Amino acid sequence: MAKIGMQQYVRLLERAAAGQISKCVYCGNENRTVNDTWICTVCENINYAGTLRDPNLFPALDNVNQLIDERKYDEALAAYEKIMSQYNEPAYIYRYALLIMEQSNYEVSCIRYDRPGFMEENAVHRERASALHSKWKRIMNKALVACNDEIANAGGNQFLAYTLFILAIKLGKPKTAKRAIEIQERYNTPSVVAYENMVLSAELGLPHDTEKAAAELIRTMSFPLNAFYYLTWSMVKLGQYQDAAGMSARLSIYIHNDSLRALMQAIKAEREM
Ligand SMILES: [Zn+2]
Repeated sequence: MAKIGMQQYVRLLERAAAGQISKCVYCGNENRTVNDTWICTVCENINYAGTLRDPNLFPALDNVNQLIDERKYDEALAAYEKIMSQYNEPAYIYRYALLIMEQSNYEVSCIRYDRPGFMEENAVHRERASALHSKWKRIMNKALVACNDEIANAGGNQFLAYTLFILAIKLGKPKTAKRAIEIQERYNTPSVVAYENMVLSAELGLPHDTEKAAAELIRTMSFPLNAFYYLTWSMVKLGQYQDAAGMSARLSIYIHNDSLRALMQAIKAEREM
């Protein structure tokens, strides 16, 4: 198959971005979607268009996101705990862990060296960040156990298998991630399996494999916006900074998450060197 050029990528990105706006049932953020099954570009949870939920769910998630914007993390977490308790799904526990990580990152960002009395203040932020990181790990492992139990006892489904996969990736457990892909293969969901293989390649630090997998997902319009992120990631790893800069700038119109922001900073730093 011929390699896809930048111009063609830009056209495919526009096609992917022209999909309908769908809200993630786990984080409430808006996504541009072209398929019934899609992966949220903010929390990376898998969604299905036919999923029925309480009509109060989206207002409740909007409230959590509002509190996060205002940096009221403790209130946001308390509000999310209420939502999480209504749905017995590990994907909600995973989203909860992501919010804890966001709070931990915020505490790290508060560490400054340019203020009087910074030593004591910095120590407080550092301690909070470290406690939150431990809490994140505990919650993530709890979600992983819940996934494993449900798959073992209730038989599982493609969505649970995906949650198990993403938890294993974030926890840095490639063996468990591979096992999750094997479970996913039972459900005849080749595009989800292809997506997982792309993410695992990135996790294992294999940019050529990641690029190939991302290109194929984009070509077939399977989770295309997410695949564009991994394509950009592989461009960075392969030293293609100019293409990566152009792609990430376009992508940032449609995707708003910390991973893309960090990638753009890395591209900027490389280009300024
Ligand atoms: Zn989401």
